[in-house]
Amino acid sequence: MSDPNSATAGPTAGPTAGPTDGLTDGPAFPRLRADVSTLPRYVPGKAAADEFVDKLSSNENPYPPLPSVIGAVESWLGRLNRYPDPSSAELTAELSARLGVPADHLVLGTGSVGITQHLVAAAAGPGDEVVFAWRSFEAYPLLAWAAGATSVQVPLRDEAHDLDALADAVTDRTRIVFVCNPNNPTGTAVRRAELERFLDRVPPEVLVVIDEAYREFVGDEEVPDGIELYRDRPNVAVLRTFSKAYGLAALRVGYAVAHPRVTAALRACSVPLGVSGPAQAAALASLRATEELRERVADLVAERERVSAGLRAEGYEVPESHANFVWLRLGSRTAYFADACEAAGLMVRPFGDEGVRITIGSPDANDRLLKTAAHWDR
Ligand code: PMP
Repeated sequence: MSDPNSATAGPTAGPTAGPTDGLTDGPAFPRLRADVSTLPRYVPGKAAADEFVDKLSSNENPYPPLPSVIGAVESWLGRLNRYPDPSSAELTAELSARLGVPADHLVLGTGSVGITQHLVAAAAGPGDEVVFAWRSFEAYPLLAWAAGATSVQVPLRDEAHDLDALADAVTDRTRIVFVCNPNNPTGTAVRRAELERFLDRVPPEVLVVIDEAYREFVGDEEVPDGIELYRDRPNVAVLRTFSKAYGLAALRVGYAVAHPRVTAALRACSVPLGVSGPAQAAALASLRATEELRERVADLVAERERVSAGLRAEGYEVPESHANFVWLRLGSRTAYFADACEAAGLMVRPFGDEGVRITIGSPDANDRLLKTAAHWDR
């Protein structure tokens, strides 16, 4: 185990520090945590200015909901005065059957980010460390901070998780290690053998969270299914979401798969009644429409390959993506590229002076992206 100081610690090392809007002006009451104003803000993908702008900035699914899913949500509208089923029993039962995991190994939440918050709260507090690759999903440093824990960020190597360095960063203070597979925002994925070797190295008292928000877009058989890996590993939790492949981002529903010690803790920490009735109904209807949704995912994957190849043909370096987005490391040219896209009616997601993440959109939006990238003066 290495010196934790070799990795970058603390929330200021996280995503772009946001404005201190309203936190530093005026009287210092009511009292808040002193470091709240230094907290890196979660930067959501920019909203499209109008209907003619394609939003390729939030890794959303460009397809509208299926009629059966809209019907399921509509069936809830006359019952909005009622609380949802607090245990999401029907959805849990359906997931349990489909995934082949016991129902008590499943916890539903308000998107997988909601579950991530509860997992961190359950496992880490002041003085504890939460280890993750960087750059990765920008909620990790934020949620570690929210729990009062310390972030330990381990640089990516060739845009991918450096699992040896991640294992080396584990200390006696480590409570959670995140492995985002595929990684947001670079799209890269770790393979079975290296992930198994990593899991064998992490001590059993440390919770390893495999964040599989983009799992359904993975085609490479060497990229392991986290649910296979968790089965005989009580310290592994897997996160999935209905926001991406299933196209339900607005409804906020995701789930964790883990052993009962972890799921019981998650349930204890969860905000009660978080998953709304319409969200439960839509997720259930989506599971029952898996075949139709799979076709859409296959089309998005084909588009991802087309966009990646088109960008490479123009001389861009594009890491192999296993998700519904691609990553271009453009350095100081990042904002300039994002502006060129905006002028072409495309919102992409710039990350400071590191690079830009581009969500795969409709074929027309992807065509315009390729055209913009081809003509962009770099
Ligand atoms: N994990 C990763 C890696 C993500 O990219 C996202 C969404 N941006 C999430 C989790 C959260 O997704 P949701 O809360 O919508 O389920």
